[in-house]
Amino acid sequence: MTGAGRGLGRAYALALAARGARVVVNDLGGSLFGDGTDAAPAAAVASEITAAGGAALADDSDVVSEEGAASIVTTAVEAWGRVDIVVNNAGILVPGALPELTAADLRRHLDVHVVGAFNVTRAAWPHLVAQGYGRVVLTTSVGMFGGEHLISYATAKGACVSLGRSLADAGRTRGVLVNMIAPAADTRMVTDPLFRRQSGLPPLAPDHVPDPTRDPERATPMLLALAHESCPCTGETLSAGLGRFARVVWAETAGVVATDLGPEDLLTRWDEVVDPASPVFPASTSDAVRAREARIATALSDRTG
Ligand code: NAD
Repeated sequence: MTGAGRGLGRAYALALAARGARVVVNDLGGSLFGDGTDAAPAAAVASEITAAGGAALADDSDVVSEEGAASIVTTAVEAWGRVDIVVNNAGILVPGALPELTAADLRRHLDVHVVGAFNVTRAAWPHLVAQGYGRVVLTTSVGMFGGEHLISYATAKGACVSLGRSLADAGRTRGVLVNMIAPAADTRMVTDPLFRRQSGLPPLAPDHVPDPTRDPERATPMLLALAHESCPCTGETLSAGLGRFARVVWAETAGVVATDLGPEDLLTRWDEVVDPASPVFPASTSDAVRAREARIATALSDRTG
């Protein structure tokens, strides 16, 4: 479990441990903006688990480093002989809009969210495939829908979905299910004063009282479902938090099949191009290609037949 020293990751780790999972509590212990390190948050959560009678080991590796990510997996395998569940939850959030936003800002987000999840999952993969069983979760966000002040974060969170869907495709015949969670909770990622100021959000009132319906625990049931032996899906993205659970879909409209359309014709038929009736929800790239070819073949045969 990465980023498990605070916020959502802490809630997930405690809930998994309460159900008998032995947990490597990884957390670099940096700031929301990704600065600094601190071994204390991971150590505190691991102690909380062991004090409650569970099994946990603290780890303060940086998931961005290949060695750090591999050591999280090695810790689990050396202590307990296997790894069944990988939860990629570590994240940073630095608001930023053009023109100030730099490529370095973008890279920092891609590193933690995408490369970090890749590194940890890659290190666990041979173990999961060898045992023919695994549950992998990557963390995306409503940020994937895109936002002016969240360009880096949104880009990284969108990339997490394609990474997870590709891993799901690789795991499909190997007993490894890979899904994405888009959580929501009032962690520091929402309440941090500097973040709120830079994002143009109003400050929280000085007498602000945390709302328990916005606690990370409200997202946790979905994480447990995706980590469960009976997880019913792979390659899916599920929203969770604030008392709501939902599916996020990637779909393609039926579209228009024609080889002789110019741009003006397309503009005339725009409503048909974007008509959301009878969409397809491809599970993978090859699935999308198959669906596209089938649509074209059907349209052409309808015309000739
Ligand atoms: P948080 O800041 O409380 O927790 C994130 C943790 O990740 C921190 O403890 C941090 O130290 C750790 N971390 C950061 N970089 C790391 C690295 N390189 N290696 C190891 N650990 C690292 O925030 P949170 O809200 O609990 O966020 C958890 C995840 O959920 C993140 O991926 C975040 O993007 C995502 N998310 C949160 C919300 C929300 O409403 N809070 C919404 C959508 C997505």
